[in-house]
Amino acid sequence: MAFKIIASQCTQCSACEFECPTGAIKFKGETYVIDPNKCTECEGYFDTQQCAAVCPVPKTCVPA
Ligand code: SF4
Ligand code: SF4
Repeated sequence: MAFKIIASQCTQCSACEFECPTGAIKFKGETYVIDPNKCTECEGYFDTQQCAAVCPVPKTCVPA
C-alpha cells in the first residue's frame, strides 16, 4: 500500500518531502511524486501519514 500525490493540486511547497520517513517523496519532472516502492504509508514510523498531515492542500496526498 502506498500514498500518491495529486499532481494537479500540488503547489510544490516541498513540505512533504522532508517529513517522509522513508524518503519516498522526490521532485520529478514538474511535480512531487511518491515512489510506491518506498512508501509504507508511514507504518512503523507514525500513526498518521505524514505527507497528508503536513500538506497545506486538502486531499492532495491520498491513498493510491
Ligand atoms: S505516507 Fe508516509 S511513507 Fe508514504 S509518502 Fe507519505 S510520508 Fe512517506
Ligand atoms: S506538501 Fe502537498 S503541496 Fe506541498 S509538495 Fe507535498 S504534495 Fe505538494
